[in-house]
Amino acid sequence: MTKPSNVHKTLTDTFGRKHNYLRISLTERCNLRCTYCMPADGIQLSPKEHIMTYEEIYTIASQFVDMGVTKIRLTGGEPLVRKDAALIIEKLSTLPVKLTITTNGVIVDRFIEHFKKCGITTLNVSLDSLNASKNTDITRRSYFEKVYQNILLLIKEGFTVKVNCVLMRGFNDNEIIDFINLTKNLPVHVRFIEFMPFDGNRWNMDKLVSLQEILTQVNSNFEKSEIVKLKDAPNDTTKSYQVKGYQGTFAIISSVTNPFCDGCNRIRLTANGQIKNCLFSATESDLLTPLRQGKSINPIIERAVQTKFKIRSGMDTLDKFKNTDGHNNRSMIAIGG
Ligand code: SAM
Ligand code: SF4
Repeated sequence: MTKPSNVHKTLTDTFGRKHNYLRISLTERCNLRCTYCMPADGIQLSPKEHIMTYEEIYTIASQFVDMGVTKIRLTGGEPLVRKDAALIIEKLSTLPVKLTITTNGVIVDRFIEHFKKCGITTLNVSLDSLNASKNTDITRRSYFEKVYQNILLLIKEGFTVKVNCVLMRGFNDNEIIDFINLTKNLPVHVRFIEFMPFDGNRWNMDKLVSLQEILTQVNSNFEKSEIVKLKDAPNDTTKSYQVKGYQGTFAIISSVTNPFCDGCNRIRLTANGQIKNCLFSATESDLLTPLRQGKSINPIIERAVQTKFKIRSGMDTLDKFKNTDGHNNRSMIAIGG
């Protein structure tokens, strides 16, 4: 159940953006090792006692809901590898929010009944290649078949499935049309994501496949009249399309070449209890320590929202990306995408 928008004025930033969408990372751990997310040498995990307990997650989430949050996404790391993931999902499902999950899909089949019981209807599942061996290269693990079958299972069980595909030049940019063709007979929603820089992921501009390039490929493979531009909601990060007559849709998330900061309604909570007011922000605000000291966390949340930059935490031009390798930010695995 989604409650009507009653966003507390403190969750409205200085640019008038209302933050009603909280993304909570449940863990820094993962059963995959995607090259664009996890550095080759792994990351220094936070000590266990620095990770939010399920009670703390629930307390902080409730606080955000009181301040006007109406949607919560669980992410990570891989949220479902956390031992008490089922309990957290159950607790959060009692809040008046739309609850949803981003997962790599490897063990999603174990949670189907639990998701149904907790009112989860939509999941984002990551899959970067339709080729098993390429998938092993990118994830450094061999679970392609399992993930693909789990996507089919979720659809069969009535869930809305969005497939997240990070595009990288020379790796999977030759699969754009294959992914779109997947939407012909499957009601699946493919989302092509521009590769973003984070600590240790060896990003550079040349590897990025841009919104424009994706559309060029689409236009050279389909007649103009076959591609329908779908309407995007005001806070959507995607530009969505459908091939006429196809069951599913495809969309592009162009965080680098065409940011969607004007309509941003997101705020992030890392597994160790830090708020990040933007995916690209190098600074964070600690909620967990004051919470454990019995202090009010509201002023910290307010300040984090009030200090949010207009565009990508100051990365407001493409040129600023050219000079970065993402090293001033955490690795994506430790943020929660
Ligand atoms: N483990 C889950 C998964 O893979 O879906 C949830 C966490 S993952 C960090 C969330 C999303 O971030 C995934 O869709 C992943 O593809 C995306 N992501 C990770 N690193 C990225 C990067 N460097 N650029 C763009 N998207 C990235
Ligand atoms: Fe794990 Fe998801 Fe990162 Fe891949 S993208 S390493 S599955 S957290």
